[in-house]
Amino acid sequence: MGSLQLKSVRKSFGPVDVLKGIDLDVKDGEFVIFVGPSGCGKSTLLRIIAGLEDATSGSITIDDEEVAAVPPAKRGIAMVFQSYALYPHLNVKDNMGLGLKQAGTPKDEIERRVAKASAMLSLEKYLARRPAELSGGQRQRVAIGRAIVREPKLFLFDEPLSNLDAALRVNTRLEIARLHRELKATMIYVTHDQVEAMTLADKIVVLDAGVIQQVGSPMELYNRPANLFVAGFIGSPG
Ligand code: ADP
Ligand code: MG
Repeated sequence: MGSLQLKSVRKSFGPVDVLKGIDLDVKDGEFVIFVGPSGCGKSTLLRIIAGLEDATSGSITIDDEEVAAVPPAKRGIAMVFQSYALYPHLNVKDNMGLGLKQAGTPKDEIERRVAKASAMLSLEKYLARRPAELSGGQRQRVAIGRAIVREPKLFLFDEPLSNLDAALRVNTRLEIARLHRELKATMIYVTHDQVEAMTLADKIVVLDAGVIQQVGSPMELYNRPANLFVAGFIGSPG
């Protein structure tokens, strides 16, 4: 479970049309990557899917249910941000479990899920530490762990590796690929990194100026880019 459909999704901020009619079908379990230049509306689109922002018009369905009236916490979605967004005063364990606690999940169930997620992410040794006592890579793993414990059907990642150095980016990218295989959840992932897009995606969505330029597998985009913009972005000869 975790399919997503966007139909004619538009978003304007005042007079500025940021998304100009986005149509997209994401299948259960797919890894979909949004790429496009800074300011083209990638984060806005993720925030609309998560329910953190309303679309100006259009429809969003998750598992065939229209979610316009469904609050963010009830959409079965967890989002991981570039900035980690951890609570500095809480240790790793409490950062991971807070959302569940707020949702009224029983304590032993929270314990079970945090233990499982921290094992998946090799964070068992760090559960008592606060974010300031962790490296950037560990902080991002905690943010991913916080998403996993919610057992969402849909993960949204907004440039999750941008604040990491090159070696950690590779490690964390491989870890996300492994999590996708293990969890079998749908993942939607924003990046401006070609390597991330080409290696992680089942399907790449190229956005520019609020319009989808092309949707296809990494090889389709590389071999048959729809236009020069896509060719330039994917790095194919065109
Ligand atoms: P991306 O993530 O692709 O870099 P964003 O989705 O963050 O782009 O932003 C797309 C455009 O929408 C930008 O021009 C940005 O300035 C504008 N924008 C985003 N959020 C707001 C907001 N809350 N109010 C006004 N403009 C916004
Ligand atoms: Mg963004």
